[in-house]
Amino acid sequence: MDLRWGITEEILRDPRRPVWFRGTGAMTVVGNLWSSRERVARHLGVPAAGLPDLLLTALEHPTPPERVEGPAAFHVLPGPVDLTRLPVPVFFPRDAGPYLTAAIFSARWKGKQNLSFHRLWVQNPRGGPVRLVPRHLDRMVRLARAEGRDLPVAIVLGAPLEFTLAAAVATDYAVDEMEIASALWQRRCGRPLPVVELPSGCQVPRDSEIVLEGRVTQQDAPEGPFLDVLGTYDPIREQPVVEIDRIYTTEEPVLPVIVAGTGEHYVLMGLPREPLILRAVRAAVPGVRAVRLTEGGSAWLHAVVSIEKRREGDGKNAALAAFAGHASLKRVVVVDPDIDIFNDEEVEWALATRFQADRGLVVIPGATGSSLDPSAGKDNVTTKWALDATLPLGVDRTPFTREPYLRARKDPEG
Ligand code: MN
Repeated sequence: MDLRWGITEEILRDPRRPVWFRGTGAMTVVGNLWSSRERVARHLGVPAAGLPDLLLTALEHPTPPERVEGPAAFHVLPGPVDLTRLPVPVFFPRDAGPYLTAAIFSARWKGKQNLSFHRLWVQNPRGGPVRLVPRHLDRMVRLARAEGRDLPVAIVLGAPLEFTLAAAVATDYAVDEMEIASALWQRRCGRPLPVVELPSGCQVPRDSEIVLEGRVTQQDAPEGPFLDVLGTYDPIREQPVVEIDRIYTTEEPVLPVIVAGTGEHYVLMGLPREPLILRAVRAAVPGVRAVRLTEGGSAWLHAVVSIEKRREGDGKNAALAAFAGHASLKRVVVVDPDIDIFNDEEVEWALATRFQADRGLVVIPGATGSSLDPSAGKDNVTTKWALDATLPLGVDRTPFTREPYLRARKDPEG
């Protein structure tokens, strides 16, 4: 298998099909493993529409993991550290080089633990620059640098789905995402998530496939370009350099890869934001039915929310709350509960038959949006817009009801 674009080509062939690559050296590579919302839901034992609620419950009931003394599923790879022993792909023609895209960083600083996803450019056998958006790991790195120190990190490649999803949830700095992972694990397995502690003090799941133990150093280097979730290239930025000191693997390790801008990227980046939108909308209006970040908006910029309206202004309040729940959100459509928000055609039908821009449209200029949106202005200043397609309370719904036989059917497999 050609590590330059060959893996991308195979993964893009059918985004719903998990692909295992053998013959990539000592390791198996897997892609599209969690490429559909339905597969994730099946694994966790809930309907697809119930995923935001499941994640929200875990967020609100964090459970400490269970620290086990071992043995871990993995052991130290003997010999000098050489990341080129890993089959790290180059995904797209204009990417800067080979990247680890399914890398989950477990870091600890002054008693606070943090999990987060970051892409890591394998620039040399010891490491390379990492992309840190200004969130929690970035904050830890700045705190460590202020004391003239590197930040110890453990980078997990391949771990239980519960850990993987929890690492993608954006919560307050004080929250330890490992406890969200453990809450999800407890629900499915009946006990807290087993974790082991590495010599650096960083904790990782006992059942990790590959772990890179190292440091975010005090040096910066140019990072990128790299294709991101919108399917466009993220520009070059000065970013911290990571150095790896130790590699751990299982006997027959499996390296997960995420191809940017595909279904798996949407599931692991966008889906974990939906509970935050759900929580914010629920706090603002009663009768919230479902939330979804749409694939058309790269599961990042566009959302749909369905509510059962109880007060005339609920549609607008729900929209404003959705923006508060996910800062990168640019557009939200609010619909009545008879609209299936998982069906884009039906959402557009609701806009076509129930929405009037002079009263349903709210435009919010000068707000902060996503750094990924190429149409945003300086400092990511963007115009957000809300489309309230809910019907007025008390209106005769007969002229607005679609003949059930005509309702577009959704492929139950998603
Ligand atoms: Mn965090």
